[in-house]
Amino acid sequence: METKQFKAESKKLLDMMIHSIYTHKEIFLRELISNASDAIDKLYFKSLTDDKVGLNKEDFAVWITPDKEARTLKISDNGIGMTEEELENNLGTIANSGSLKFKTENKLEEDNQIIGQFGVGFYSAFMVAKKVTVISKAYGSDKAYQWESEGVDGYTITEAEKKNPGTDIILELIDDTDDENYTEFLDEYRIKSLIRKYSDYIRFPIKMEVTHSRPKEQTEEEKEAKKAPEYEDYIEVETLNSMTPLWKKNKSELKDEDYKHFYTEKFYDYTEPLKYAHVKNEGNANYNALLYIPGKAPFDYYSKEYEKGLQLYSNGVLIMDKCADLLPDYFSFVKGLVDSEDLSLNISREMLQHDRQLKVIAKSIEKTISNELKKMLKNEREKYEEFWKAFGLQIKYGIYSDYGMNKEKLQDLLLFTSSKEKKLVTLDEYVTGMREDQKYIYYATGGSADRIEQLPQTELVKDNGFEILYLTDSVDEFAVKTLRSYKDKEFKSVSADDLGLETEEKKEEIKAKEEENSGLLADIASALDGKVSKVILSQRLKSHPVCLTSEGEISLEMEKILNSMPVDQKVKAQRVLEINPEHEIFGKLKALDADENKEKLGKYSKLLYDQALLIEGLPIEDPVEFSNLICELM
Ligand code: ADP
Repeated sequence: METKQFKAESKKLLDMMIHSIYTHKEIFLRELISNASDAIDKLYFKSLTDDKVGLNKEDFAVWITPDKEARTLKISDNGIGMTEEELENNLGTIANSGSLKFKTENKLEEDNQIIGQFGVGFYSAFMVAKKVTVISKAYGSDKAYQWESEGVDGYTITEAEKKNPGTDIILELIDDTDDENYTEFLDEYRIKSLIRKYSDYIRFPIKMEVTHSRPKEQTEEEKEAKKAPEYEDYIEVETLNSMTPLWKKNKSELKDEDYKHFYTEKFYDYTEPLKYAHVKNEGNANYNALLYIPGKAPFDYYSKEYEKGLQLYSNGVLIMDKCADLLPDYFSFVKGLVDSEDLSLNISREMLQHDRQLKVIAKSIEKTISNELKKMLKNEREKYEEFWKAFGLQIKYGIYSDYGMNKEKLQDLLLFTSSKEKKLVTLDEYVTGMREDQKYIYYATGGSADRIEQLPQTELVKDNGFEILYLTDSVDEFAVKTLRSYKDKEFKSVSADDLGLETEEKKEEIKAKEEENSGLLADIASALDGKVSKVILSQRLKSHPVCLTSEGEISLEMEKILNSMPVDQKVKAQRVLEINPEHEIFGKLKALDADENKEKLGKYSKLLYDQALLIEGLPIEDPVEFSNLICELM
């Protein structure tokens, strides 16, 4: 008999299971029962359209059989079963190869992360078993096969005897040690409580023969003599799970912890959800839904790996694990499920996409999520800010993607850091706090609130006592540009050329000064040799000598972001160098110009430009030249 080797990744995971010090080894039972239930789902699904299956709904069940003498625990199902090839492919390799990418210093933490995040499935059997035997017969096949393994050394597949389609999994439990008791998994009471804890909502009955004891029938004489009754054991089949899925139960029957527990078990997230909603919708769309907002973003959330979607059930039967069409991208963080009787069971994935009813459900779900978020923002601000930290970025993406199609729906969910107390504020709060004479919603962009705080461009707006929104995420400015305005108030960058703050007088004054110094400004521009499109005298600077702004559609911040993307074509903002006419340095420049000291003026211009770049957080083009110029000055 040939012993086959596990694939490398599987072997690693298996080894980890065997040597696991994971504290919840008991989850192996949940994993195996869930596989059994999935297998039954598949055959049940078939039975609805195929009479040859020959089973009715009530015939399907998972059986648990503990055998104390043999120290084995058997989990059987009459589901779809596996062919020889499927045994090989499904049990010899592990689907979640990504699970091994974790590495932490702490073994327990690592175990917890892997097992918790991925729910490692079948291999978890090896946390409690020294030998695992799988006997399976696929529906439609006349042969059964047996897969057997004692762990990392490999496995064998041989022909076997089995009457009906389905799968038996037999675990030979590990011997007890001082620290670990495996025998308890053969204990009826322990099994019952595990099933109630983890698998109560499994839609098919989980059955076990349970031994009870009863007084033996007494003879008349015995009764007469008032003899103490003798007891006898008898066996009864019990269904261990309540089967009604949680979402079909009445809300009044359910406690907060039922919902949270369900979430943890179903979505393998040990962080409590921030919020959940149990929806029972009737009318244009009939469905039950459980929706959860996770407490933290999954580790792969902002990557291509992350798959959005809700589980989709048709009247209790799972038809799709991640139905992406039920969630818009901007709510892709929501986890949960939808169960509707309006959807036909044998609908294909392709058809589902065009299903009118599904669209109605998706719309209704979107509305629910949006309302829940708004409620949270209004009533549980701290919680909402936590939500915002985890998923705000996604909402901001939502504002500007699809050409701003959804901006109205999402704008009231936005939070930005405000210059006032550096707290997060909504746009509504900002606008409500605006002074009567304030025309615009001012914003400034930069890597962090602290960086922005120092930008010379913010001086004038702040001096006027106006609040500024600090945009620190790369998407922020794109989102704001997409919004354009909120409640008729236009957004205005503090770097914009007209901030609406300058008096006509002041404007005239600057204009006159610019004309007066046109020669100087032109000389500076030519010294900078095309690096800037314009050199002007600033109206916004108070204490700083220079700053860099831009004209046209692309701002300096956007230039940074767009150029950090992996595209060939680099963009360039049209840079404007602003010089503070009130600053001493301007007098110096004027003096150099008057002396016709073009060489020195050129050098100063370059230095000022480089300083402006540094303040903006942009790299200077020639650091060596910059350094030399400074040394020369010193
Ligand atoms: P997952 O369930 O996450 O896919 P598992 O390692 O638990 O991963 O199982 C791997 C595969 O083995 C399953 O996807 C399924 O195809 C098959 N499988 C496991 N248990 C059974 C079973 N009882 N009946 C039929 N197929 C099964």
